[in-house]
Amino acid sequence: MGNVITHGAATASVVPSLPMARYSVYNRHATLSSAVAAMHPMAYLYALQETDLAIDSLRQQIAQIDAQLGETEELIQLKTQVEATRKRIQQLHSQQRDLELETLSLQDKIKGVENKLYGGEITNPKELQGLLEDLQALKKQLSLLEDRLLTLMIEGDEQEKALRKQEERLSQVLTAWQEEQEKLKAERGQLEEQLRLLEAQRDAQVAQVAPPFLSLYEGLRARRQGRAVAKVERGLCGGCHIALPVSLVQRARTGSSPVQCSSCERILYVP
Ligand SMILES: [Zn+2]
Repeated sequence: MGNVITHGAATASVVPSLPMARYSVYNRHATLSSAVAAMHPMAYLYALQETDLAIDSLRQQIAQIDAQLGETEELIQLKTQVEATRKRIQQLHSQQRDLELETLSLQDKIKGVENKLYGGEITNPKELQGLLEDLQALKKQLSLLEDRLLTLMIEGDEQEKALRKQEERLSQVLTAWQEEQEKLKAERGQLEEQLRLLEAQRDAQVAQVAPPFLSLYEGLRARRQGRAVAKVERGLCGGCHIALPVSLVQRARTGSSPVQCSSCERILYVP
């Protein structure tokens, strides 16, 4: 019985640190352990199963958190949008600078033609007429350039406004996302901690089970959605709910070897 007491003590030291409300199986398990002196060999298997189910549930929760860690679709979209708007603004600025340079050079040209035209050095009417036509053409070109420049500046303003809105939205979403990620990471850490405790508890429980029983248990667990042991209540198998022969229930209650349900093959545990 020495090892049985050790098992009970180890369980008792582990279980109270776990959040009872969330994992009600611990409560039931604690109840089982407190009745340690009267425990049937199958009760150990049943207790082991409770631990394994809790471990399964924790691993599932950790996997769910892992799926939520990382950038969300919304965040990626907003970042892409901001990046695209910034790029567009850069393009507009660069086009604007080019047009401004073009405008300056055109204005210089116009000044040159005007100087020639009104300088008094050229008197030939034909030549003067030609210069006048050049001047008109250049001024028309300048006016077109100025229109293009204005269009660019208007779009630039609109893009700047859009960028400010997008950045504001991104910042809000980013803050909420970061908070959420921190919460998830903290929760994951707690779950990992609980998992480590349960795994230690499982090691202690496994040590109480005879190896052939354990391999039968593991095989059934793999085939029966994690539930290898079924409680017998009012003569019914807790796994498949079939009515069990009285003699089978009797053997399960008094025997020290596993007795399996004739229908679902689960190991029967009569509490
Ligand atoms: Zn059954």
